[in-house]
Amino acid sequence: MLRDTLARPIRDLRISVTDRCNFRCTYCMPKEVFGREYQFLERAELLSYEEIVRLVRIFTGLGVEKIRLTGGEPLVRQELPRLVEALSAVPGLRDLALTTNGRLLSAQADALCAAGLRRITVSLDTLDDEVFKTINDVDAPVQAVLDGIDAAANVGLEPIKINAVIKRGVNDHTLVDLARHFHGTGHILRFIEYMDVGKTNGWRLEHVVPAREIIERINAELPLEPLEPNYPGEVARRWRYVDGGGEIGVISSISAPFCGACTRARLSAEGQLYTCLFATRGHDLRGALRRGATDEEISTMIASVWRGRDDRYSELRTAESLEREKVEMSYIGG
Ligand code: SAM
Ligand code: SF4
Ligand code: SF4
Repeated sequence: MLRDTLARPIRDLRISVTDRCNFRCTYCMPKEVFGREYQFLERAELLSYEEIVRLVRIFTGLGVEKIRLTGGEPLVRQELPRLVEALSAVPGLRDLALTTNGRLLSAQADALCAAGLRRITVSLDTLDDEVFKTINDVDAPVQAVLDGIDAAANVGLEPIKINAVIKRGVNDHTLVDLARHFHGTGHILRFIEYMDVGKTNGWRLEHVVPAREIIERINAELPLEPLEPNYPGEVARRWRYVDGGGEIGVISSISAPFCGACTRARLSAEGQLYTCLFATRGHDLRGALRRGATDEEISTMIASVWRGRDDRYSELRTAESLEREKVEMSYIGG
């Protein structure tokens, strides 16, 4: 079995299908950087759906069982259900999921489900419209995302995961409201510690609300008890409401990193392979595809990258590493 230098197998692949987005979240694509002048990738630079499917077949041959489509905002890419349909037919894939900001979901949930999507994660950081608009910076209302979540539930994409990034002084005062709203709905709310991805979001440690504090704040109003992980190495720590109102999760990438169990590779929209969210450089799979490399040659290339992998950025995070050049989340795929 293929393993990296720390004996971690390759199990999941996150695929960014576009570097574009209809939001400008201040912690991810701030307008000062991603403004009118910003050069997004040209159409021809993106991997085609056929190229993505070919790579996924090769990755499954190396041990990948789980794919997550992301971006940028995946729902802004044309004909996404066509890709979902092709991927859901790939043998060896056990799980096909999608992460979206939800803005375009009510229009697309049906087609995505019909194409074979079974799991969806919707990002929603607050229920307060003012706060939400300050974060997304394009005036998108909360209701549009809630409508998307309802549409996904109606077509049967359940249980839906809701991801909320918590940034101190921005939306932490609304986190308990978020918990209360999804309590009893069957959707699984997951709180994510704000991370130092990329170079543009001005991250500082004091912006992070540690998972422990998030749990304490919710527990004070809606009592919680810990749950066992669904499987070893699960990224989110699970908790359930004592009153039977369902479960929530916390992803403590900063306060309790989980690199030792990280089996995740990432493919950028232009076909660069990254072995860590905080990587400084990728490996050009698109070049190999377009030069006419065989499946076997590409598989050998991926295997050699994975064998040499020693990433554990979050465990080693230091003042010096914070200053490193890192690729942006919207490019590498969150
Ligand atoms: N546009 C889609 C969305 O927002 O769901 C998919 C891509 S987005 C980069 C994936 C996830 O990364 C979102 O849940 C987003 O909140 C999260 N994210 C972005 N920047 C982050 C940061 N600096 N720290 C923690 N999470 C972040
Ligand atoms: Fe877009 Fe998602 Fe980044 Fe927000 S977090 S700017 S929705 S890619
Ligand atoms: Fe995986 Fe890199 Fe995140 Fe560690 S820092 S969990 S190696 S992506």
